[in-house]
Amino acid sequence: MLAKLNRRNFLEVLGQATAAGGLIVLLGPRATQATTTPEDEAYDWEEHSYVYLIDISKCIGCGSCVRGCKAENDVPDGFYRTWVERYAIAGLEEVRIDSPQGGLNGFQPDPTAPASTKSFFVPKLCNHCSNTPCVQVCPVGASYQTKDGLVLVDKDHCVGCGYCVQACPYGSRFLDPETHTAEKCTWCYHRISKGELPACVASCPTGTRRFGDLKREGDEVVAIIRSQNVGVLAKELLTKPRCYYLHLDGEVR
Ligand code: SF4
Ligand code: SF4
Repeated sequence: MLAKLNRRNFLEVLGQATAAGGLIVLLGPRATQATTTPEDEAYDWEEHSYVYLIDISKCIGCGSCVRGCKAENDVPDGFYRTWVERYAIAGLEEVRIDSPQGGLNGFQPDPTAPASTKSFFVPKLCNHCSNTPCVQVCPVGASYQTKDGLVLVDKDHCVGCGYCVQACPYGSRFLDPETHTAEKCTWCYHRISKGELPACVASCPTGTRRFGDLKREGDEVVAIIRSQNVGVLAKELLTKPRCYYLHLDGEVR
């Protein structure tokens, strides 16, 4: 029965069980097989394995990427699929992080920062983890992994329970205020499956954000990831992100 649950009848079942005072036992991972596939039928997801690279040393905090993402994906006001954080580190203990409106309009200088402050910008977005907690907690299998390495949401199956929003350790998900379904960065799947770059990568004027494919011969981004000292966010969680960072400060979380 559970494999056939959709948004409406899931909520009905949930309501009946709650009214009966019953204990709701949620499913393990992949209760259903989501069916969303790329729009382009000629696209073969077996031929790709995507990775994303962010060079923190190049980011100037201009917010062009956030604006590009918003415009491309019609992201609701007050929510962000990607955002930029400013880190200000003074001495050994004080770490300040701010991200006004997700860095959408860039950053104003902080006049209260001590002169010795080390400051840099950290662009963030969904890490498309290989070992992903959001997929594991989804009770109806609406969150799923694609064969080319992405984590996506099948909105026809999503019941808006919000478990994945809670489970994502990177704060990458939110519930869309209109559709009440889970939203997140897709690495612009509608673009990359046509051979285009994600909108944020295309919008970045400094080359901070780059996109690669492990299955593409001679891929420059892959060569950097394999040969240079790249890091991932919250490595200790063992989520195996596909989003890599160059010049990642140890204070970034
Ligand atoms: S890949 Fe697309 S959806 Fe993701 S942050 Fe970049 S622009 Fe937004
Ligand atoms: S567009 Fe590039 S340089 Fe500007 S904030 Fe985004 S990542 Fe940084």
